[in-house]
Amino acid sequence: MVKMVDAPEGIEGQGFFATSLDKVIGMARANSLWPLPFATSCCGIEFMATMGSNYDLARFGSERLSFSPRQADLLMVMGTIAKKMGPVLKQVYDQMAEPKWVIAVGACASSGGIFDTYSVLQGIDRIIPVDVYVPGCPPRPEQIIEGVMKIQDLARKESLRRRNSDEYKKMLESYNIETQ
Ligand code: SF4
Repeated sequence: MVKMVDAPEGIEGQGFFATSLDKVIGMARANSLWPLPFATSCCGIEFMATMGSNYDLARFGSERLSFSPRQADLLMVMGTIAKKMGPVLKQVYDQMAEPKWVIAVGACASSGGIFDTYSVLQGIDRIIPVDVYVPGCPPRPEQIIEGVMKIQDLARKESLRRRNSDEYKKMLESYNIETQ
């Protein structure tokens, strides 16, 4: 059965429906997120299960994975990120076009997890901004789906102008990320 997405809030009458541009764009973005899976270890396997027919991420419009940063808007980091890998992850983030969102999937991506060692990055938010953290070692597919739904919520409600705001630019600058 095909389930249609609910229309955004608006004013409806016979033969017309009016709403704001922000809400229409938010609805479209939220239901067509293209994930880039940056999977380095075991959490990536849970993501594979999330994509499988049982959990079926396609229900959320996110079945189209992208391994090219330029055609993705949801960076999903899954696994242990070694410090040597940090610059690569940052470059992938840089190459993604705005608007873009980031999920840290699992304990390793969120905080380094059990690997409190000299070689492991203690959380990807040391180098790139993170929108949603999914706890667990590893998190179950249901938790990953909840993380994606939280991103959908952000995408749906985000103002079109947020990415041009001084606050957003300052946040990127705090990560030494160039703003255009
Ligand atoms: S959080 Fe646990 S399951 Fe996920 S990558 Fe780290 S060690 Fe593996």
